Amino acid sequence: MLDRPIEYLKGIGPQRAEVLKKELNIFLYKDLLTYFPFRYVDRTKFHTISEAADEMPFIQLRGFLLKMDLVGQKSTKRLVVLFKDNTGIIELVWFKSYNWVSKQLKLGSEYIVFGKPSLFNGKFNIPHPEISVITEDLLKQQSAFQSVYNSTEKLKLFGLDSEGIRKAQRNLLIQLQITDIQENLSNELINDYHLMSRFEAFKFIHFPNSNKQIKEATLRLKFEELFYIQLRLLKINKIRANTVKGFVFSKVGILFNDFFKLHLPFELTNAQKRVIKEIRLDMGSGRQMNRLLQGDVGSGKTLVALMSMLLALDNDFQTCLMAPTEILAQQHFETFKHFLKSINIKVALLTGSSKIKNRRIIHQQLLDGEINILIGTHALIEDVVQFKNLGLVVIDEQHRFGVAQRAKLRAKNSCPPHMLIMTATPIPRTLAMTFYGDLDTSIIDELPPGRKPIKTIHYLETHRLRVIGFIKEQIALGKQIYVVYPLIKESEKLDYQNLQQGYDDLVQEFKPPNYQISILHGKLTHDQKEFEMRRFIEHQTQIMVATTVIEVGVNIANASVMIIESAERFGLSQLHQLRGRVGRGADQSYCVLMTGYKLGQDSRLRMETMVRTNDGFEISEVDLKLRGPGDIEGTQQSGVLDLKLANLAQDGQILQLARQAAQSILDEDVNFELEKNKVFENELVLLQKNKPNWSKIG
Ligand code: ADP
Ligand code: MG
Repeated sequence: MLDRPIEYLKGIGPQRAEVLKKELNIFLYKDLLTYFPFRYVDRTKFHTISEAADEMPFIQLRGFLLKMDLVGQKSTKRLVVLFKDNTGIIELVWFKSYNWVSKQLKLGSEYIVFGKPSLFNGKFNIPHPEISVITEDLLKQQSAFQSVYNSTEKLKLFGLDSEGIRKAQRNLLIQLQITDIQENLSNELINDYHLMSRFEAFKFIHFPNSNKQIKEATLRLKFEELFYIQLRLLKINKIRANTVKGFVFSKVGILFNDFFKLHLPFELTNAQKRVIKEIRLDMGSGRQMNRLLQGDVGSGKTLVALMSMLLALDNDFQTCLMAPTEILAQQHFETFKHFLKSINIKVALLTGSSKIKNRRIIHQQLLDGEINILIGTHALIEDVVQFKNLGLVVIDEQHRFGVAQRAKLRAKNSCPPHMLIMTATPIPRTLAMTFYGDLDTSIIDELPPGRKPIKTIHYLETHRLRVIGFIKEQIALGKQIYVVYPLIKESEKLDYQNLQQGYDDLVQEFKPPNYQISILHGKLTHDQKEFEMRRFIEHQTQIMVATTVIEVGVNIANASVMIIESAERFGLSQLHQLRGRVGRGADQSYCVLMTGYKLGQDSRLRMETMVRTNDGFEISEVDLKLRGPGDIEGTQQSGVLDLKLANLAQDGQILQLARQAAQSILDEDVNFELEKNKVFENELVLLQKNKPNWSKIG
């Protein structure tokens, strides 16, 4: 039944079906059934005409029709109906379809009227109300809560406004038997989690009689939606754990120990120690590690990566680290060389701009096993890059890479290497559970000691002089400054102008020979970038004017001020990442958010959040609430999840329950061999067929 084409539904037909397909992607009965209302109107309450007020979104009245008139000419022509109850009279007005409407209405009969009161010439009227004769049946049948559906101009032309869609839903649901909507959760699950049956849930989500029914129906369907995502991801995880053999890194050898005892320039934080232990146990367990490492900006993920990599070397494996940009790869390379300078290990760098000759040598040395650690960009993924014995892959700033790229690195050894995936900034828990739901997680929830929290200040354009003065003070203290401009594809030309203008203005204020300024953006050649970056790193320049190319990873301890121009144009996680470029030394650091005077509500909240907290985990949650899951970095493959009902910003609790449910089912019966679990197998197969996008998560 649910697979029938929508045109066969009573009241739809080929013409409306066409529009439904075009506007809402509704092709089949089941597509309509899963087109959910976005809110409900309480129809239990009747008001009187005297209570009509401007701010009421809706009013429901009971009364009689007194009089009907067609008034006005041509374009102002309308049907005006006087409607009366015990408290007064109100006009009902139709500007369209008035001929048809007037034929339906009967003077003297009792009606229910429902619509938005609007004030006109000091009097209330109700334009285009819903109106129905009161009958016993109507009073009984009318849902106490009326569902409201999103519609479009086009649909409305075909009578498919919210009410039209509701009628179609009713015609559909009337026909459906309990066998048409098969239960896809086990009885056990339904009982344990006190869920509504699937059939009831669909019925009540469209036609509820109480708030309770709305809540329970919504909960049931959201649960189901999230549950199957979790079941799939956790099943991947579990099967991998059971069937994919991992290299056993049984030794904690000389390299790791020597480094730890002799070369580590500081004490590890407790969080770093804990996480390294988690990684070590995982890599020694015989299963292949697939681990997400989350930690705030500056929490010391690189070092965790490095020490994990030493474990690989101790066990006679090679290892590689992939970063999203050349600058970052370069920087990691330098960091590694620095940390490992007195240890006999060969570290190599491979990026898009490595010279061909050099590349060939690297390729050969990888095959010979001469190179122990390879650091690079996307260039690592290429098929020509083959290792003698790759044991561990680290991916930095994973959000820049896709699942496919992860998979390619996995395939670089006959038995898949361990995978450690690091995020740039924390991601909200619900997103982590969904987008990286197949991975185990380690969290660094502590910053190295002695860091002073960065002070963040929000300044308006009018404070610019003060900001200039502040920069001068900081430079006088021997500090360096970043000034970052937004650069967005859509407004690229203008953005470059702003960047250039900002640079020119700064040059006016900060003239050579006392001051030197670097500039860094995507239009420079590799060598130019390299040159500008180096000048800043070597402190030949005091100010670095840049676009967000400096966003990721760059680590210059002496830079203590981050000025973000047009800060309102950045998302929260980006602002937080940018801010994380400072505060890396022991001295007080600052982040200055420059914005225009006029700010939207969201922008204001973003600035306030940045000023209030340095906690990346907290910021990521606010970000999710503000932007919705579709826009959070790393999840931009929009439509991947395509959640119909659940919302990752709001439904964290349901998600948690769903994940827990999925986990305990898989713990007992990963292959769904028990009779009671067959239902899960069937539904997963079905979903996999209908959701080709699913392969992009996990
Ligand atoms: P992120 O987690 O953002 O990648 P990094 O790994 O770049 O952070 O570390 C930031 C800075 O903190 C680096 O300069 C690093 O050397 C330093 N660092 C890392 N761990 C510690 C520690 N335990 N004590 C002091 N400094 C540390
Ligand atoms: Mg980093």
